[in-house]
Amino acid sequence: MMTLIEAENISRHYGLRSIFRKARSFAAVERVTVRIDAGRTLAVVGESGSGKSTLGRLLLGVDQPSHGALRFDGRNMLSLSASQRQAMTRDLQLVFQNALAALDPRQGISQQIGEPLLIHGLSDGKEAARKALEMMRAVGLGAELATRRPSELSGGQRQRAVIARALITKPRFVVFDESVSALDVSVQAQIISLIRSLRQEEGFASLFISHDLRVVRHVADEVAVMYLGRIVEHGPVQDLFAAPAHPYTRALIAAIPGRQQVDGQKVDRLGGDPPDPANKPAGCAFHTRCPIARTICAQLEPPSISIDRDHYAACHFAGAPLSTQSLASL
Ligand code: SF4
Repeated sequence: MMTLIEAENISRHYGLRSIFRKARSFAAVERVTVRIDAGRTLAVVGESGSGKSTLGRLLLGVDQPSHGALRFDGRNMLSLSASQRQAMTRDLQLVFQNALAALDPRQGISQQIGEPLLIHGLSDGKEAARKALEMMRAVGLGAELATRRPSELSGGQRQRAVIARALITKPRFVVFDESVSALDVSVQAQIISLIRSLRQEEGFASLFISHDLRVVRHVADEVAVMYLGRIVEHGPVQDLFAAPAHPYTRALIAAIPGRQQVDGQKVDRLGGDPPDPANKPAGCAFHTRCPIARTICAQLEPPSISIDRDHYAACHFAGAPLSTQSLASL
């Protein structure tokens, strides 16, 4: 299958103001390598502050990595001229969580859905209006809603409108950033099934960002779990759910209602909040919350090791039993 997006060891550093006036920076994304093939979906999961939205913006070219290489369809995205970058924007789209904020409150939705065709000079006004109605139908919005303003639609209808607007230029890569998080569970399921069927019809590749591992299960081909800017586990969706290897992934799975057990073992819910990304713990950044952390964990950053074909985890004790007693023999 053809690789569409390829990021190699990308990092994104942000500067920090310090009262001591010493220049400091922290990595919101650190040495991340991902590849997404045409038509495939990679889900990125993690708590807030894990760097998943920054990664989405980097892959879209909205933000620039501080280090690393980034290619789209084989082209180096970091050496594009402004006009080449502009021409590429129709291929790269973003769907936010907050549909209400993404839409103009004064305009009817079909006009807003057709607008990208005009912005990119792909259609005239008449054709844009016709294609907007077609796109509305494709996302399950009836033509009678065409002139409604965003405030006159339900949350699910607004999210459908935002998806229609993102897909009308026939992009090749779409980032869904917490796109279903604000919706009720039943509406979430409808929007996820819509995204799946649109992906099949339109063939776009996507990055599906969510803080909730549960929602990615039915939309992703692969899952990358992020913690404080790093990918700590990455694998095919079935493998990651069936045999999660990193203690953080196990804790996320255990937080899914009805899934307190992983591999037949009870896993405690994850306590506390992630540390400040600007002050990451040394060694394994997860050691301050890890139920099986040992001395080495605070001293040495774990490398990413292969668990199975296409399945990797960055943990000194990846796949080990989850209680400290059972680890004593290791
Ligand atoms: Fe836990 Fe150590 Fe593995 Fe980090 S390296 S996840 S602290 S066991």
